[in-house]
Amino acid sequence: MIPTFINKWFSKKSRPENTSGQSVVLSRDQHQVSRKQISSNALKVLNRLHRANFEAYLVGGGVRDILLGLQPKDFDIATNARPEQIKRLFRNCRVIGRRFRLAHILFGHEIIEVATFRASHSEESPHGQQHESGILVRDNVYGSLEDDARRRDFTINALYYSSSDFTVRDFTGGLEDLKKRQLRLIGDPTTRYGEDPVRMLRAVRLATKLELAIEQSTAKPIASHAHLLKNVSTARLWDESHKLLLAGYAKATVEALRQYGLFEYLFPATDKALKIAPDDSLSTFINEALDSTDERARQEKPITPAFLYAVFLWQPLQTRAEQLLAQGMSHNDAYHKAMGQVIQEQNSFISIPKRFSMVIRDIWSLQPRLEYRNHKSFKLLEHPKFRAAYDFLVLRSKADETLASSATWWTRFQETGPEGQRSMTQALSKRKKPKKRPGGRKRNFRSKPSNKDSNRHS
Ligand code: ATP
Ligand code: MG
Repeated sequence: MIPTFINKWFSKKSRPENTSGQSVVLSRDQHQVSRKQISSNALKVLNRLHRANFEAYLVGGGVRDILLGLQPKDFDIATNARPEQIKRLFRNCRVIGRRFRLAHILFGHEIIEVATFRASHSEESPHGQQHESGILVRDNVYGSLEDDARRRDFTINALYYSSSDFTVRDFTGGLEDLKKRQLRLIGDPTTRYGEDPVRMLRAVRLATKLELAIEQSTAKPIASHAHLLKNVSTARLWDESHKLLLAGYAKATVEALRQYGLFEYLFPATDKALKIAPDDSLSTFINEALDSTDERARQEKPITPAFLYAVFLWQPLQTRAEQLLAQGMSHNDAYHKAMGQVIQEQNSFISIPKRFSMVIRDIWSLQPRLEYRNHKSFKLLEHPKFRAAYDFLVLRSKADETLASSATWWTRFQETGPEGQRSMTQALSKRKKPKKRPGGRKRNFRSKPSNKDSNRHS
């Protein structure tokens, strides 16, 4: 489907060509961006900047999504005002960022990001500081509007809308690319990925979310440059992983990340587990989790990134624990140690803040307690992470039918009233007690119980 605005523009016989880098200015009647589609707070910011005689444009995802007929997620503004000048204009302004200094104008929950026009720069540039790996670590070289367009990532992200003369400006061929529904990097792809490897993740994410093709020269270097993600800070990758996993397109995005060879630099242990999996039960489990996360995002239900991390690292946890068990460690000790090791190894790629790794551990630790129910089981309902752990068990049961009886039991247990819960737990106490394991230790964790075990609960 080609958006009507573009038809309007492209149907004009004398349309200006922009493949040679000429700029295109669409007047009000040549496009369909209107103030009605822009948040009133973003318009307030644009108007105040204009009144103070600064240039100011809506740019990035806001313009792109409106032109694609979609509702923008947020609104970004570019201006020739410097951060300190912006701060003087807005009381509700916070200047943030090291790599890019940006102004955030706060309106309750809505944040309008205002960035000063910047120029891109080559390695010789005295202002843009480059790490030895080629990555830009500081990028505060101010520039003109056109410079600002050229330092952006993709052509379709470098379209500017002015709320004062109602024009849309394109310096890099973004309108042509929108029409072709393709994502194309501005400039030389290898250099641009080298400067900021996160652009590879953005390419995959935006192409998946917007159903665009990644233009050939933009797509080709990704596989051979994927390893550059090792140079990106692990904290930044944690933030990026949210955009990849929590925006409602996680399943398609993970599939694309795997295809482009990027996933192994984000979740290496998961990638390896998937590659060596003897059957499709692991991919079923992961895909079910991704699907259900996407569904929650669509329904605007709260989502914790810890849940998907717990899913991704579940099989690596089993493998590591089995290795430790084989070395003679007790179940409790083996699983405890394996949890720490698996999380620590993941942290060297994407650092998981402590408060999230605690949740991951909780979800994991609750699994055996949900599987092996007893008369004290009802207490688990009060555990703050019960619901996440239950959802996790349900997903596991979809990939492993031996867990179905436990999952169904917990579903019924939550649905029934106190009377029903009492009789369900009483019925559990009447079951034959499981035999003690040699050495008297209770089995603590399992990835896959035997049929005999699971029948205990049915
Ligand atoms: P989304 O819909 O996910 O918000 P977006 O393109 O608006 O997509 P943002 O992260 O909000 O993404 O970035 C706003 C704009 O800043 C982008 O459209 C792009 O012009 C520019 N930008 C963001 N990240 C980069 C980058 N790594 N390199 C160059 N330009 C970037
Ligand atoms: Mg945005």
